[in-house]
Amino acid sequence: MMEINREIDNIKIKVKHAKKLAEEQDAGLDKAARKHLIIKIKHLLKKKKAVLVAHYYTAPELQQLADETGGTVADSLEMAKFGNKHPASTLVVAGVRFMGETAKILNPEKKVLMPDTRADCSLDISCPASLFEKYCDSHPDHTVVVYANTSAAVKARADWVVTSGIALKIAKHLTDIGEKILWAPDKYLGNYVKRMSGAKNMLLWPGTCVVHESFKAKGIKDLKLQYPEAAVLVHPESPEDIIAMADIVGSTTAIIDAAKKLDAKSFIVATEPGIFYKMKQAAPDKIFMEAPTGGDFATCESCLRCPWMAMNGLKNLAQVLEDENPDNEIHIDETIRQKALIPLNRMLDF
Ligand code: 13P
Ligand code: SF4
Repeated sequence: MMEINREIDNIKIKVKHAKKLAEEQDAGLDKAARKHLIIKIKHLLKKKKAVLVAHYYTAPELQQLADETGGTVADSLEMAKFGNKHPASTLVVAGVRFMGETAKILNPEKKVLMPDTRADCSLDISCPASLFEKYCDSHPDHTVVVYANTSAAVKARADWVVTSGIALKIAKHLTDIGEKILWAPDKYLGNYVKRMSGAKNMLLWPGTCVVHESFKAKGIKDLKLQYPEAAVLVHPESPEDIIAMADIVGSTTAIIDAAKKLDAKSFIVATEPGIFYKMKQAAPDKIFMEAPTGGDFATCESCLRCPWMAMNGLKNLAQVLEDENPDNEIHIDETIRQKALIPLNRMLDF
């Protein structure tokens, strides 16, 4: 456990580094330069027969580019599935590394490029494969369930991979058939799944998302006093007191759907604000407010923006398409890929 906590302590330094890289990305680009890069990216996507697959948390310009060039903007699972269906031989994944890896696990014959393969995720960092394997080995009677926000090597050690959209259903199924669960790496999502599924024997890895753990219940309560009619939408990577205030708890896709389907005219949204681009498209007449992370006693490392998602910009997207630099390509050892494919397919077939 001490080694795991050491990894988690290191995340603060990595957040600072990612923030610096993200700030440098596209810094100083004026409107004309941005426009020029957008035209260049569109041209290169066509020329290289590549398709852009972007996550909901990336910058609006990248989401727009994916939409306008026949790519997709989606959650992590749909991003991987899209690559599978699309005929392009090159997938350019704007997101974080585990998303590029999942795309490669499912599409080994395709070239998977990322604007910056150093774009990490605090959950992935908190769960290095070597420590995770040791932990699993010491609990051989548990079924290993890992969240999609993990490396290919961690997935390779798992019985199941889940995303936030399906985690609860799979945990309920496993509980019903009497399995003990070892869950990694997000302790808040794990705790939520544990409470909701009624799982008794569930071990939780202590990882957290630096964005979702920074929401403040007091801030949301104060905002609710100002906007009592606003519905609260919460991603389940958030702590228990934030989830307790939610009208809807769900994955990124579920949060966008809720903006469309609920009668409420305004929403307090506890997830990464990149999602507002698609929420506004889905419900243009509605009002979306960021759930507060600051205020009294604020301790947040990232304060809302995911520092690693922010490492995806116009400059490095154009660059990766132009150079196809090997550093920007995702490679996975074939033995690990085949092992990781088993729990991933188990989820897809469920
Ligand atoms: P989704 O699986 O809903 O895309 O979420 C990924 C993520 O990183 C949430 O913080
Ligand atoms: Fe990881 Fe959190 Fe960023 Fe999602 S928002 S990629 S869970 S650090």
